[in-house]
Amino acid sequence: MPSQPILLVHGGAWAIPDDMVEAHLHGVRNAAEAGWRVLECGGSALDAIEAAVLVMEDDETFDAGCGSFLTRDGRVQLDALMMDGRTLRAGGVGCVEHIRNPILAARKILEESPHVYLVAQGAEAFAQEHGIELCSNAELVLPREIERLKQAQEKESSGEKHAIFASPAVSHDTVGAVARDRDGSIAAATSTGGTLNKTPGRVGDSSLLGCGCYADNESAACSTTGWGEPMMKLVLAKWAADQVLAGGDPARVASDAIHYLHRRLHGHGGLILLDAKGRFGLAHNTPRMAWAVRTAEKQDHGIKIESTPALQPLP
Ligand code: ASP
Repeated sequence: MPSQPILLVHGGAWAIPDDMVEAHLHGVRNAAEAGWRVLECGGSALDAIEAAVLVMEDDETFDAGCGSFLTRDGRVQLDALMMDGRTLRAGGVGCVEHIRNPILAARKILEESPHVYLVAQGAEAFAQEHGIELCSNAELVLPREIERLKQAQEKESSGEKHAIFASPAVSHDTVGAVARDRDGSIAAATSTGGTLNKTPGRVGDSSLLGCGCYADNESAACSTTGWGEPMMKLVLAKWAADQVLAGGDPARVASDAIHYLHRRLHGHGGLILLDAKGRFGLAHNTPRMAWAVRTAEKQDHGIKIESTPALQPLP
């Protein structure tokens, strides 16, 4: 009997201000519908997450693709990863500056490269050789982000250096998706512009296997968002998948993962988690997280504002 398809997306975990809520809701809803259209026609989980992430990369609301945060020297540098839980094939790019939709480059690597991860000019050359058109970096930079960078750098010079990264109020608009298809296979994808005012060349958790994204049919598919350095140190997406493999329910494990992140490193962020049985969870310890879940029966979406059980939002 075919499995019931399901798709979850997130559009970042942070203190999304009231006046940005509608744009985030709109974005995650559109992404969920795009991914769902693939699944309902019998498409693969991999195709569905690609379609969903593509919509959010093209939506300037999010920190992915055009409209991403800028590096300290005012450029967009993008990271993305996708993983197929059936075959464990994966493809990732880091620090690309001339690719409008890095998730498409990640997919090409997954499908057509003997490697798993390519960075910077090498990744761009590979993408171009595989039919992806390059763009100028300036096309990815929005005036809004130039202003945001200026404000961050003013704060930094007034001594608030670490507040830029370490506060849950700081914008984390990374996007991600996990899905299960009719064959019962799962997949995960994450795409980001990283953190505001980052050092050029910094790679965050989002595109690192097991940190910002992971998928294995035997355990779970996971996409994370939030302050990347603590998540990298805990290899958080793989940690969550392993807990599911050990018998944990994804709803409980999602919450445990965020507790672990906070307990161990005072990290903050959120994640979506789905296993091959179609059980799922989402959790965060930031004031808000944008998300959507789509099944054959319905779409649920929202700005999830309650924090994970027994965990207070950080001040
Ligand atoms: N995790 C991302 C990074 O550190 C940021 C985010 O999720 O918004 O690059």
